[in-house]
Amino acid sequence: MILHIDMDAFFAAVEQRDNPALRHRPVIVAGNSKRSVVSTASYEARKFGIRSAMPVYAAKQRCADLIVVPGNMKKYRSDSKKIMAILSGFSPLVEQVSIDEAFVDLAGCERLFGSPEDMGRAIKKKIEAGLSLTSSIGIAPIKFLAKIASDMNKPDGLTLITPAEAPRVLAELPIQKVPGVGQAAMKQMNILKIRSLGDIKKFSLPLLTQKFGKMGPHLFELSNGIDASMVETGHTRKSISSETTLSKDVSDFETLKGILLDRAQTVGRDLRAKHLVCETVFIKLKFSDFTQVTRSRTLDTAVSSSAAIFKEALALYRKIELKKKIRLAGVGVTSLKDKDRPIQMFLLGEEKKTETQWASVDKAVDSIMEKFGGNIIQKASLKELFDEGGCDGKEDSDQG
Ligand SMILES: [Mg+2]
Repeated sequence: MILHIDMDAFFAAVEQRDNPALRHRPVIVAGNSKRSVVSTASYEARKFGIRSAMPVYAAKQRCADLIVVPGNMKKYRSDSKKIMAILSGFSPLVEQVSIDEAFVDLAGCERLFGSPEDMGRAIKKKIEAGLSLTSSIGIAPIKFLAKIASDMNKPDGLTLITPAEAPRVLAELPIQKVPGVGQAAMKQMNILKIRSLGDIKKFSLPLLTQKFGKMGPHLFELSNGIDASMVETGHTRKSISSETTLSKDVSDFETLKGILLDRAQTVGRDLRAKHLVCETVFIKLKFSDFTQVTRSRTLDTAVSSSAAIFKEALALYRKIELKKKIRLAGVGVTSLKDKDRPIQMFLLGEEKKTETQWASVDKAVDSIMEKFGGNIIQKASLKELFDEGGCDGKEDSDQG
């Protein structure tokens, strides 16, 4: 289950909290230039129809007693950090989507914190106790629905959409509530008499693509309850790599092997620290004449051990025909996935054994490295291991 949290009238609520004179009053946070627009309106101001992005003068026309407060981003950012820290205490998979909004993947957290609903309640309570702010939470089997749910009972709401309820909620969802469906799309929707997301199902994928472009397939998937997007942690990067520029150009295999090992260990440690696994390993070599090559290989199994990364890097290196001296060598990984999402991980028995064995070695080394820095410790054992495979540049066997 995925949880979406959205703070209630965040900026305005922070101001009302910090200044009792503003409580229970129509307040907007906005700049004070002539063209300023409402950044956030308190719920008291919303009763007058005042909304975000409305020009301040228009807001004032709607409510004579409106109090305009200048924003204090520094304060909001600091509170936002505290909120995200609270969320991280519940799950390692937190994706912050804006200053006051985040997705939390609840997978694997039930044992620690109880049902998803219990977790939602606990999160709200902790934020209220720590920051005196209310939030609204939506919990659903997919991200898209979690976000819809958090908006259903604002403010101070907690809305759960169970997997059993999800198809009905999706089918009945007013089409204009789907993010990305703007005025132009609504014109087409009206012509096609599409009122809810469920109505999308009446149309074929080619027709939807023709009418709505790229959004067509997306709507088609959503209407069928498919939301491929996952909670992406704030640390998630597309790739992690590390490279060394050599003090002098080299062609000596042993030296380069040592560098690749060093880089593989650094990359592996970085990967594991972020609770990620990778499916692709790449290497990069820059030659004395500044030309460069990169080579990559996608693995059958996601890995995170330094040993596996080094093994692939070495195999890739061996396949490159070296005619020039090398001045820079790097190792990197990409196709990163969250470690806690066991998709395609450890599918093969053999690989599983190796990765599991290496995991304990890596864990020990990582904790020592954290204290002392450097890659010295594991080096000897890894280097020895891969010496067996033969390091004279002959064709790589996949055994490593
Ligand atoms: Mg909000």
